[in-house]
Amino acid sequence: MSSTAKTIIRTYDNYINGQWVKSSSGEMFPVYDPSTEEMIAQVSSGTAADVHSAVKAARAAFDSGPWRQTTAADRGRILYKLAEKIRANAAQLAELECRNSGKPIVEAEYDIADAATCFEYYAGLANKVLGHVNPVPANALSFTLREPVGVAGQIIPWNYPLVMASWKLAPAIAAGCTCVLKPAEQTPLTVMEVASWSEELGFPPGVVNIVNGFGETTGAALVAHPGVDKIAFTGSAAVGKMIVKSAADTLKRVTLELGGKSPNIFFDGADWEAAVDGALFGVFINQGEVCSAGSRILVEKKIYSKFLEAMTEKAKRIKLGAPLERETKMGPLVSKEQYDRVSSYVELGKKEAKVAIGGGRPKQFSKGFYVEPTIFYDVDNSARISREEIFGPVASVIPFEGEPDAIRIANDTPYGLAAAVWTRDIYKAFRVVKSLRAGIVWVNHMQPTYVEAPWGGYKQSGFGRELGPWGLEEYLETKQVFVNLDETPIGWY
Ligand code: ADP
Ligand code: MG
Repeated sequence: MSSTAKTIIRTYDNYINGQWVKSSSGEMFPVYDPSTEEMIAQVSSGTAADVHSAVKAARAAFDSGPWRQTTAADRGRILYKLAEKIRANAAQLAELECRNSGKPIVEAEYDIADAATCFEYYAGLANKVLGHVNPVPANALSFTLREPVGVAGQIIPWNYPLVMASWKLAPAIAAGCTCVLKPAEQTPLTVMEVASWSEELGFPPGVVNIVNGFGETTGAALVAHPGVDKIAFTGSAAVGKMIVKSAADTLKRVTLELGGKSPNIFFDGADWEAAVDGALFGVFINQGEVCSAGSRILVEKKIYSKFLEAMTEKAKRIKLGAPLERETKMGPLVSKEQYDRVSSYVELGKKEAKVAIGGGRPKQFSKGFYVEPTIFYDVDNSARISREEIFGPVASVIPFEGEPDAIRIANDTPYGLAAAVWTRDIYKAFRVVKSLRAGIVWVNHMQPTYVEAPWGGYKQSGFGRELGPWGLEEYLETKQVFVNLDETPIGWY
């Protein structure tokens, strides 16, 4: 790590076996500030050989290093220290996250606090993993041991960089696994800062390895590597499918948190102000770069016109700005690639539906990957903008007529990550909750995420759950131990 006051361009190598290691190819890739389009860092680009070194180190640390001798309480203590160190450095980390991802500074501050909370949660959970005694006949004893799954390969996206790293690293470490994490190539900076504390925090070499690089090379090499026992992936459904295919060759365990096209459902009689806010917050928070974004806004016909109008009026007041300014409510998208992808959906939307607000690049910015908050209305649920994940500030407002119609439209999607329903009618709320095919359902809110509660999807939004005890479970194997208490021979032959 080096940074000088003059250049502010930082450089990062990969963190392998407790050492900072240059790419075996010698190549580096640039990392940008998406609000200025300026390069802010250069990072060593991990090759398949670098991935191999990292897996070898993680394998050795798991199979024969001192890590296996640590108690769950020891691992918890390291995680507590990590959480505290994140808190002590929260301001710098938030600023770095903000500059690298383009998210508003206030959101970045929440993210850093959430990452610390995640490490703290799994610090506490580490020594609360229990086995069972199984009710076999009296002349035997059977119990279960919970053991770490081994070397975890972890691949994360760019929308919540440090939070996503914490969701992966914290439960794996608590379980006693060793890790090779590949950050998203757009946003590696905060996790590299955190990795630089590894030795000081007491991680033995090889327990936490970070290899940077691109998905098709570095990521694919990690997924294919026979030394990896499990892949935990958060990202697009398209890549998730490729990962499952590749992982089949070695039958490694896979958990996937993929995209969504989450319905945010508004019934007549819902608390009006809260509902209007919730519709906007659900889809525009973090520039809409959220896997659980409420990008399909389903509104009951009785309130449709008035609700659309209220949403549109309020959306006009969303402050786009420089990410570091505290009043900013929306920054730029993370990259040119994402800007192009979202812009092409916006153009498609203009053909498929009507525009209530937005529909392009905000005029006040000469630089930066900004996209206006965009609301399409009278959208058919079969339109591509209603079916495909856009991952940007683009909402489809869809009318419905009554509860069965709302449920039908909500579930008519290949995805099933999240959903929300807004109503004061408690009977209706819970009927709808039970009918929705989604892993997370909010009532009269959208997006609150707590480390204590499970996170993950139905259908093509993936499988496995993160957070809470469910998240730790995914890093554990179950060993059944049978003890014969009867000294007489089996007597079969
Ligand atoms: P996006 O296209 O929005 O960046 P991706 O699903 O492509 O979403 O990326 C999420 C993460 O998956 C990133 O860390 C990326 O580098 C990684 N990735 C992309 N393609 C592959 C792949 N073929 N194999 C493994 N990881 C990949
Ligand atoms: Mg991609």
